[in-house]
Amino acid sequence: MTDIANELALLRELGYTHLDISEQRVASGEQENGRETLEDLGRIARACQKCRLAKTRTNVVYGVGSPNADLMFVGEAPGRDEDIQGEPFVGRAGQLLTDIIKAMKLTRDQVYITNVIKCRPPENRNPEADELDECRPYIKRQIALIRPKVIVTLGRFALQSLTEKGYSISAVRGQWLEVDGVKVMPTYHPAYLLRNPAAKKDVWNDMKKVMAELGLL
Ligand code: URA
Repeated sequence: MTDIANELALLRELGYTHLDISEQRVASGEQENGRETLEDLGRIARACQKCRLAKTRTNVVYGVGSPNADLMFVGEAPGRDEDIQGEPFVGRAGQLLTDIIKAMKLTRDQVYITNVIKCRPPENRNPEADELDECRPYIKRQIALIRPKVIVTLGRFALQSLTEKGYSISAVRGQWLEVDGVKVMPTYHPAYLLRNPAAKKDVWNDMKKVMAELGLL
């Protein structure tokens, strides 16, 4: 396929039905050997207008870390700090996630960090079902491109949106699930840990399972 045909196939898969070519809304991606890369997908995500959050965001918060990461952390949605900086998990909850990653003897550069929603919901309200649906193709494609060995979902929205099941976090936390052939470890969101520090030991037990799976123990 030509680059344009590839790009159109990808856009269709991401849920686009119409293209506005009067402005450079959808930046064309340079492709490696006709296959899109994480950066190609990032260019499309950063131009996304699929839902109402596009109108109120400052930056699209696509994801950071290694494109070859064995471990991927998936949170809910950007907050104020993330919206301003364009990077996931850089506020108070993000500092705690960074501490968890360091405690696992890893760095933010060695893992991949993203969210199921790429744009900040106004006033940090919960994401709406249609926003989660519109954004899901991006996280699914990020997973397909990175092919991590383990995904850690942080909190209820990441767990439910990724699995497309109505799991309660307390029922499945710490138990292995699977999405698209990748092992998934659901755990609490770091923002929950800031309010409930006693739950940190549960998260650490979950991270020990992840480390064992990745041969890091
Ligand atoms: N909370 C999230 O779920 N994601 C972020 O990026 C920041 C806070």
